[in-house]
Amino acid sequence: RITVLGSTNMDLVAYVTTAPRSGETVTGHEFRTIPGGKGANQAVAAARAGAEVAMIGAVGTDDFGRRLRATLEGSGVDIDLLRTTEGPTGTAHIVVDRDGANSIVVIPGANGSVTSLSHADRAVIAEARSLLLQLELPMSAVLEGAEVARRNGVRTILTPAPAQPLPSQLLAATDLLVPNEHEAATLTGISGDPQRAAEALLAQVPEVVITLGARGCLYASRAQSEPVAVLAPPVTAVDTTGAGDTFVGALAVALAEGRPMIDALTWASSAAALSVQRAGAATSMPYRGEIDA
Ligand code: ADP
Repeated sequence: RITVLGSTNMDLVAYVTTAPRSGETVTGHEFRTIPGGKGANQAVAAARAGAEVAMIGAVGTDDFGRRLRATLEGSGVDIDLLRTTEGPTGTAHIVVDRDGANSIVVIPGANGSVTSLSHADRAVIAEARSLLLQLELPMSAVLEGAEVARRNGVRTILTPAPAQPLPSQLLAATDLLVPNEHEAATLTGISGDPQRAAEALLAQVPEVVITLGARGCLYASRAQSEPVAVLAPPVTAVDTTGAGDTFVGALAVALAEGRPMIDALTWASSAAALSVQRAGAATSMPYRGEIDA
């Protein structure tokens, strides 16, 4: 079993030709509501990749909350520990322009209520093979989750997004850090040189995977002298939203099954490559049979 401690958001996406400037109104051509939040995305990815997954987090008492619960359940995620708190569900207000560039406002809503863990949350984390963490819940809960995992020998896999400096207690309780290129640059101050960034991060965590979009990923470990590159399969990307979350979810499943790191990274790369060929985040995530094929 894999436990995810993280966010659930409804993405409210407006598609326009040119994004409005301050004070300006523009007419767009399409609106979609898409289930999201890094926590929920990683939970769906791991469940579809074949693991038993429990999600800890919170939705609000609105329609978005009901839809997010249904989406998670529909992918087989155990939501017994997903709280419903009075007030709105987290939302991400996204404007996507003709070039695919976006600007985003996130309102944490119910996610902000998860400041600490219950006894039941701690028990489910302690019994898991791994704990998946991101930074869209209050830091106090993320830290508490990481420390419970660490005390119980549960592998912690941290996606350091949104990019921000990390408290040293969190790094000390992280087994595997999975930043994208931008997050790795924020954490290290090194941009344009993933190899050097990965080596710098090894001073803080024992293992690092930096994802590099269409260029694949780079794995570095204190146990080996040189970082190893794993290429992404060449595919035509339609929508890369959630690529990183698909990658992490599948990676966690492969590692929980005891597969060696490079095999696990190759399998996770196949999962992410499948997801970028289809529109949407959670809705585009592949099932185990597709990844194996
Ligand atoms: P994020 O979505 O967090 O920004 P990346 O863009 O680095 O993360 O993508 C995560 C992983 O998804 C990559 O390491 C790669 O395996 C896969 N991926 C992303 N974009 C593509 C692409 N255009 N073609 C193939 N694989 C991709």
